[in-house]
Amino acid sequence: MVSLPKLDDLRVGGMLPTPKGVALAVMELCQSDSASMEDVARTVMTDPALSGKLIRQANAAAAGGRPVVSVNEAVRRLGLGLVKQLVLGFSLIDEFGEGACERFDYQKFWSHSLLMGLSMQTIARVSRMGPPDDLFACGLLARIGRLALATAYPVAYSEVLGATEGQSAEQLAEAENTALHIDHNRLGAAMLGEWGVPPALVEPVLFHEKGVEAPFSEGTRSYQICQALSLAARIGDLGLAPEFARHALVAELLAVAGRIGILSEDLGALLDPLMESWTAWGELLKVPTATLPPFAILADSPAPRIGPDLDGPPLRVMVVDDEGSTRQLMSSWLQTECGHSVTAAPDGRTALALALEHRPQVVLTDWLMPEMDGIELTRALRATDWGRSIYVIMLTALGSEDQLETAFAEGVDDYLTKPFSLRALRARLMAAGRYVRLQEDWARDRAQLKRIASELAVSNRKLERAALSDALTGLPNRRAAISMLGQAWSASRRSDQPLSVMMIDIDRFKSINDRHGHAGGDVVLAAVAKLLRGSARKDDWVCRTGGEEFLVICPNATLEAAAQSAERLRRTVAGAPVTVDGKTFEVTVSIGIASREADTTDADALVSRADEGLYEAKAAGRNRCCLVRAGRKLLGPS
Ligand code: GH3
Ligand code: MG
Ligand code: MG
Repeated sequence: MVSLPKLDDLRVGGMLPTPKGVALAVMELCQSDSASMEDVARTVMTDPALSGKLIRQANAAAAGGRPVVSVNEAVRRLGLGLVKQLVLGFSLIDEFGEGACERFDYQKFWSHSLLMGLSMQTIARVSRMGPPDDLFACGLLARIGRLALATAYPVAYSEVLGATEGQSAEQLAEAENTALHIDHNRLGAAMLGEWGVPPALVEPVLFHEKGVEAPFSEGTRSYQICQALSLAARIGDLGLAPEFARHALVAELLAVAGRIGILSEDLGALLDPLMESWTAWGELLKVPTATLPPFAILADSPAPRIGPDLDGPPLRVMVVDDEGSTRQLMSSWLQTECGHSVTAAPDGRTALALALEHRPQVVLTDWLMPEMDGIELTRALRATDWGRSIYVIMLTALGSEDQLETAFAEGVDDYLTKPFSLRALRARLMAAGRYVRLQEDWARDRAQLKRIASELAVSNRKLERAALSDALTGLPNRRAAISMLGQAWSASRRSDQPLSVMMIDIDRFKSINDRHGHAGGDVVLAAVAKLLRGSARKDDWVCRTGGEEFLVICPNATLEAAAQSAERLRRTVAGAPVTVDGKTFEVTVSIGIASREADTTDADALVSRADEGLYEAKAAGRNRCCLVRAGRKLLGPS
């Protein structure tokens, strides 16, 4: 015999959920053998709301017959067992349909508990392991310890739930013990004892989450009830599971059923009506339920698998949901069945940090989450360079559909209404995959275009440079000289600053060509160009405008300054003999200089004047400078 925990010894700090006075009294009455229908009815009548619900339920059960108008009659019609269940259910669910523990889903808790209760009732009928009504209560309340912890420690328990999301019931109990020095199984068992549930039912409740490791010998009644509770819990899980997760649960369910002698071929006949009554009871007690396909279809249908032809190449998917079980089920399904690579996050903030690292192509996000909700996450993603092209699918509750306009405005691409089917998720992901592939194609095309454009730009720049410079000397060519002269002319006019030019021509170049060949002439050309460039003023532009002719543009230089500079150039060239094929000889240049004057009409006229000076220098014997001012030519020394 197992020693059961006592509520007094557990020293729970906070308030515990208890059935209201009337419900408790009814439960106690039903426990004693001597209670009569009249006693029960009298107790119920002290609670008008409860009386009304019982009468309504009795009328619903006797549809078409003479209407039930009194509590007495309702109790007689429904029978003591059913009255007890209804009273218990109404009382607790009414009182604890919602609460302060943030991560505790009160509605889901009751939905699961109700299905567990109904499962126990059904199992009791087929296996005759005990009175069905007692086992209903046992199943309904098997998890009451969880509700109790959420009620007694709303904040601390919310933290425990957050930290153990997606983990097993045993891991949850361990975390509860660490944080609160009590676990839901021991607390639940103590409460059931307090409420008058016999130890023969409380013991199996205490150990039902341990499955085959429960400390009961096979074949004993405790073992049977414990395994039945374990099966009922799996049925509860199946009822609440999203479509894509059902297949895995059915396999486990068949195994657990086998332990209490329920064959897989009988399970359908047991489960299908059970799910129907769950829905009916859910409507009455106002707790959510789901509609499942017949068990035969669930058990026979192969695991949902999507062919590679439909799914396309694997995607990097991020699942963001604060509910651990949903997150885990979706992740594992997307991974194992579709071959996608999945990252999961419990809230928007975590998702954002992970997304930076994993760069998902598709984000499946819940709407309401702590820390950062789905909309805020979408907004944050859209604000980044890399997050703009992510395909975002919002998971919404039915009621939030009218807020979808906001969602789309914030950049959501698609949405799915919870609870959603595998088919719907698959369809959405196919669309997401198409979008991702289009994006990739587009990005590839764009990258290619970019490469071509930059190659073009480079060759254009090269061409431009080539078009504007002289291959032999590297100096700006005639075209460049014309354009530069135009600019210098305009700037000089605009700012009324002086502008001077020099025309330089190599003396007797033809004879150099004649003596040293054309190639030798080229060597001389390159050498003279280098000397000119090297000794011109920093701001002057030295250009090669013809065979052995050079134009030097001197912005901001007066005629005197330019003449000085020209004289320096002439001397530099004359003083630097050139060597061609081992023969060294002197090269000289003649230079004409002119400045913009009041009567200079344009840049061409300016160059013509310098040309006149050059002609004069040649005529005077070469290796000279000649400046031209107001139509007069002034020769320099040789
Ligand atoms: P002057 O002192 O009067 O200027 O005598 P010159 O021999 O330099 O006279 P002219 O301008 O008549 O001769 C220029 C020669 O330069 C003619 C041409 O064969 C040669 N020439 C023109 N361009 C090039 C070139 O790129 N390379 C070589 N090697 N020779 C060139
Ligand atoms: Mg010449
Ligand atoms: Mg010439």
